[in-house]
Amino acid sequence: MKPHALRITLCVLVAILIVSCLSPSGGAAPAPTPQNFAPFLLVTQDPNASPTATPFQPSDIVHTPLPTFTEIPPATETFTPSPEPTLTFTPLPTLTPDPNAPTPPPPGADSPRPNYILNAALDFRNKTLTADQTIRYYNRVGAPLAELVLSVQSNTHPNAFTLNSIAVDGTPVTAYQLSGQRLVVSLPQPLPADSALTLTLNFTLRIPRKTSSELFGYDHNQINLVDWYPFIVPFRGGWVLHDPMPWGEHLVYDSSDIELNIKTDQGVILAVGASPEPNGEWTRYRMYGARTLALSASNEFIVAETTAGNIVIRSYYFSGFQSGGVDMTTYAAQAVNTFSAQFAPYPHQTLAIVQTDMSDGMEYDGLIFLSTDFYRQYNGTARSNLVVIGVHEIAHQWWYSLVGSDHALEPWLDESLSTYSERIFFENTYPANVSWWWQFRIDYFKPKGYVDGSIYQYASFRAYTDAVYFQGARFLDEMRVRMGHGNFSKFLKEYAARYAYRHATSADFFALAREIVNVNYDDLIRKYFAGTY
Ligand SMILES: [Zn+2]
Repeated sequence: MKPHALRITLCVLVAILIVSCLSPSGGAAPAPTPQNFAPFLLVTQDPNASPTATPFQPSDIVHTPLPTFTEIPPATETFTPSPEPTLTFTPLPTLTPDPNAPTPPPPGADSPRPNYILNAALDFRNKTLTADQTIRYYNRVGAPLAELVLSVQSNTHPNAFTLNSIAVDGTPVTAYQLSGQRLVVSLPQPLPADSALTLTLNFTLRIPRKTSSELFGYDHNQINLVDWYPFIVPFRGGWVLHDPMPWGEHLVYDSSDIELNIKTDQGVILAVGASPEPNGEWTRYRMYGARTLALSASNEFIVAETTAGNIVIRSYYFSGFQSGGVDMTTYAAQAVNTFSAQFAPYPHQTLAIVQTDMSDGMEYDGLIFLSTDFYRQYNGTARSNLVVIGVHEIAHQWWYSLVGSDHALEPWLDESLSTYSERIFFENTYPANVSWWWQFRIDYFKPKGYVDGSIYQYASFRAYTDAVYFQGARFLDEMRVRMGHGNFSKFLKEYAARYAYRHATSADFFALAREIVNVNYDDLIRKYFAGTY
């Protein structure tokens, strides 16, 4: 989910209520087990009072199962280890696979994926970044394209984004229009269907001060770079770039291959959803089949590390928050193992869990952010916002990063699945806590509302989360009973496999459900949905 201004108020209330209700964790937490959770008292305030304290914190995006980098890379162009990255404008490096590189995931129907290479210098002290960016874009639209539309979220901050140059296939372009979040590039000549072009940009960021209601920006010891570089938005009968809303994510991404070469100040630690590869004074990160590449930089990060199979899990936290910072590696490994077994293999090589000053949690590919408040409130057990929201954001690695969907128009697809995945985590890992989870996470709110609204159709953040997250979870639970647990499990696996690296719709969701088992869902759809499917 997405932080928003209303949450600042909510957060204060939540902090007061939760701090007053939770047992203090008192130093290093024991390894969480179902036996040692502290008693958790629910707040006694009327949950429907307005404004309502929300123990739920929204988070962001995630998607599909990536086989563990053992597939044969596509025969066409793949991620390229860039030669000496420089900050001078360079042509697209030749796309020669690095023999040591992990094998990209199999291409989906949308393949060949867009390919991004970023060479970026981050001046941590002065809070600026300069980057050369190369985008290899394949026209899969089925018709010629006269223009490209890019999302430039950093341009929504005053004086933050400067576009220094832009070229198509090496020829400088002047026919472009940058306004707010939208960059429209008129192509010198139409790009025929099934053809590719190379877009090169050079840009500078003056990183703004972050607020607790958003992630992008700097604070006293941390810089978060999310949605920080221009990207070509998906084309689905038209370019998909929705208007922002205070709640809910508005961005939609194609699955892409992304390489970042970065250098920054001595002593600064970078959290990225991929493993670092030293490359001279640069460090290289490569992600295959990712929606976006987010990172966080700090000169004060403390790092705890573990593994789940061949997945490296790193927790980046700050001094004073060791209990939650260290324990999250355990919970994250449990979540990765559970979801890999229940849905699909974890889609990335690594998972970064990053503490930050925000009022919520948020997901990006291979990287999640969690609020410092959650670490502060952490009671040493799984019955905590830190763990529940952390697991929610990790679930988005399947329902957002792997399986794409339109987060603005059909937010229930990734949010209800990620919320219900929390239940699947508890029933597999801490089964004694399942009824606690229903009460704490869902029933407490007495949720109502139709599940399938867009982010623009709800009157408030509370109305949005009640319907999309909580009623969505209730619907999935009833659907699971209707299908039978075995068929529901089969359905989730097939949904993840079929729509991996692609975009699923509500219609796809129900068509597949009926394909798995031909039962009648009409009454459930009438009960929970405004639309018919
Ligand atoms: Zn979410």
